[in-house]
Amino acid sequence: MRREEMVRTIRERAHQKNPWDIAVIGGGATGMGVAVDAAARGLDVALIEAYDFGKGTSSRSTKLVHGGVRYLEQGNIPLVMSALKERGLMRQNAPHLVHDLAFVVPNYSWWEAPFYGIGLKLYDLLAGQYGFGVSKLLTREETLERLPALEPEELRGGVVYFDGQFDDARLLIHLAMTAADHGATLVNYCPATGLVRDAEGYVNGVHAHDEETGEELTIPARIVVNATGVFTDSIRRMADPAAEQVVVTSQGIHLVFDRSFLKGDTALMVPRTSDGRVLFVIPWHGHAVAGTTDTPLDAPSLEPKPLDEEIAFILETASRYLTRPPSRADVLAVYVGLRPLVKGEGKTSALSRDHIIHVDASGLLTITGGKWTTYRHMAEDCVDHAITLGRLRAEPCPTHNLRIHGYLEDSASLGSLQVYGSDAEAIRTLAGDPALAAQLHSSLPYIAAEVVWAARAEMARTVEDVLARHTRALFLNANAAIAMARPVARLLAAELGRDEAWAAAQVKEFCALAEQYRVV
Ligand SMILES: Cc1cc2nc3c(=O)[nH]c(=O)nc-3n(C[C@H](O)[C@H](O)[C@H](O)COP(=O)(O)OP(=O)(O)OC[C@H]3O[C@@H](n4cnc5c(N)ncnc54)[C@H](O)[C@@H]3O)c2cc1C
Repeated sequence: MRREEMVRTIRERAHQKNPWDIAVIGGGATGMGVAVDAAARGLDVALIEAYDFGKGTSSRSTKLVHGGVRYLEQGNIPLVMSALKERGLMRQNAPHLVHDLAFVVPNYSWWEAPFYGIGLKLYDLLAGQYGFGVSKLLTREETLERLPALEPEELRGGVVYFDGQFDDARLLIHLAMTAADHGATLVNYCPATGLVRDAEGYVNGVHAHDEETGEELTIPARIVVNATGVFTDSIRRMADPAAEQVVVTSQGIHLVFDRSFLKGDTALMVPRTSDGRVLFVIPWHGHAVAGTTDTPLDAPSLEPKPLDEEIAFILETASRYLTRPPSRADVLAVYVGLRPLVKGEGKTSALSRDHIIHVDASGLLTITGGKWTTYRHMAEDCVDHAITLGRLRAEPCPTHNLRIHGYLEDSASLGSLQVYGSDAEAIRTLAGDPALAAQLHSSLPYIAAEVVWAARAEMARTVEDVLARHTRALFLNANAAIAMARPVARLLAAELGRDEAWAAAQVKEFCALAEQYRVV
């Protein structure tokens, strides 16, 4: 993927007054899923993202590919069944990025084993042919064997069940590459600034601003899809200033610790915290991630900040279940995400995780809500609507069996390069140069060749892109990421043809941002 070529294509199409079938605004899981689906059906698709692909919520999730045990408790059986099917398809189509994970629900009261045991049997049942493994009751000893760091006092036993886990930002990058492999044109750092209308007032294109060159771009399109997550209503109001709010924003934070806080390869699941939510402590990229909270917000922002009470809540809840209670000083990173929830009555934690598709009077098609796990199904639904609305000619949806870029069945032997799947070979070749084989920080496995690869093949443009999403350094260890900023800036500057002043400004900007990921 080369940004200059993508921008050139956009420019040429506007010049020729040759409309795209679909223009997508927003490069998170929802928008990128739509781009993959549309391109794989043979449609002509352009996607613009205001920042880096995945900069929004889609890089800030709990990293679970799941049906959602909590939604089962809420009685939303259709959502759970649909998500369990999607979970199976995600693992099937991206085995290099999605894998099984065992979760243990510890039991400290007599009623918990039958209650959660039966609930999780139902979860197995709903997965049907897409099952990841059979849940079962564990003795006290078996529970501690799986979770050696679990508080043993008054522990009676546990229930083990299976779900999926992934690297969200990396899957997003591979979705972008899949869309590009099928002919989609994708541009990052290119916010939509307005909508184009025909003589009758129907939306037939997007105005956008190229942040790198300052150029104003126009993207004529038969259908415009608004997939901007928590920013959905701001785009809807470009079409209709009086449009009612459809999305409410709820903030969730995660704390990242050293893996020693959660020994073993099993995740801990606390089904009911003091505020009635679920808390997970999961092993991820050699660390332990604990989350999440659900705090309603009035307005969305791009870099939401953790609240002190959210940090305290996670530390306090995790401490009740772990033999070594984590403190603020143990937090290696904190990251914050904003859920785009479909507006309804009641607490945000009780709002539906279903998606909605909305077509307004001007023909703008909006898709929002849902969750990462259901991105493929959401995209299929959205493109079906776009085809009907725009009378587009397209092949049937092929994404049930569409392999995601990098598809590799047995990638475990690739070690830390596993997430690249079949692209790992190209990174190893780059690392044949000893200067690029160097590890960038002793606490994290990332090597210089990954930076070069991110710039050459994955459209990384800034130090933050590389450290936050193309590698996950910022999300795993903020201090280590700060220490890596300078060498990363130097490597990127060489790849992108930038000078020393650019590199210095990048380091400064990144270090200021990274402060927000530290807990002091
Ligand atoms: C704390 C938390 C934990 C979660 N955990 C899970 C989980 O474990 N599993 C799961 O399945 N789901 C999970 N989810 C849900 C999932 O992450 C979201 O449903 C999903 O990422 C939303 O994707 P999106 O593309 O709709 O939004 P986003 O990822 O936010 O993408 C929207 C994009 O639109 C861009 N944009 C905005 N305005 C413009 C503009 N004018 N022009 C161009 N681009 C624009 C933004 O920059 C952004 O990148 C979690 C969510 C949260 C908040």
